[in-house]
Amino acid sequence: MRLGLGGEFAEQRAWMVEHQLRRRGIGDERVLEAMGAVPRERFVPERYRRRAYADSALPIGEGQTISQPWIVAAICEALELEGLERVLEIGTGSGYSAAVLARLAGEVITIERVEELARTARELIAEMGIANVEVVVGDGSEGLPERAPFDSIAVHAAAPAPPRQLIDELALGGRLVIPIATDAADMLTVFSRIGESVDPTTGEGLKREVIGPCRFVPLIGAEGFPE
Ligand code: SAH
Repeated sequence: MRLGLGGEFAEQRAWMVEHQLRRRGIGDERVLEAMGAVPRERFVPERYRRRAYADSALPIGEGQTISQPWIVAAICEALELEGLERVLEIGTGSGYSAAVLARLAGEVITIERVEELARTARELIAEMGIANVEVVVGDGSEGLPERAPFDSIAVHAAAPAPPRQLIDELALGGRLVIPIATDAADMLTVFSRIGESVDPTTGEGLKREVIGPCRFVPLIGAEGFPE
């Protein structure tokens, strides 16, 4: 029975990679491989497990969600990872995106503000034998200055503006992928650090590329939205 179910999930996962990701423009083979390898059903609460590979976000408790597969893939692709990077992730949630990033980078440090979610994700990641992910509880809008610089930073919640602190923690050449909230939609945006000195108000030292509109939960914290 268990085997049968596992097989069914593997099939759904392969279908998800082809139909939800590759056909909708995700082209990075490493990202497609990672999305095809991580068992998303393990990160979804029992009662939503049948819908683990649906083309949508799903509730994970504490009023939060596991992101739609396409969003996770789009963020990972935008980071342009090659395999050895140190990545900072903000918004661990279920731990799913951290498990995907773990296959794409050398080391992942992921921050979650809700302690209960962080604990569940940490346990699951350990149980799955993923050794290069560290889950930290805290306000990720301020990053993790004591561990900076990071080659890449991925934010899974929408911010009012790119947090100054996160840009400061980016290595030269590094990429920050973050949804920026506007009146119309959250715009998934990449900020690349192209200069030693950066002025976020003038945009000096930063390159900005918009990937497209999407929907995220709010980033809550010092450089995010108020609670
Ligand atoms: N990447 C997750 C989905 C994250 S949803 C997954 O794959 O399951 C966004 C998460 O960001 C939520 O769990 C929310 O609690 C968290 N969050 C919001 N503001 C935060 C902040 N300032 N620091 C850290 N986590 C934050």
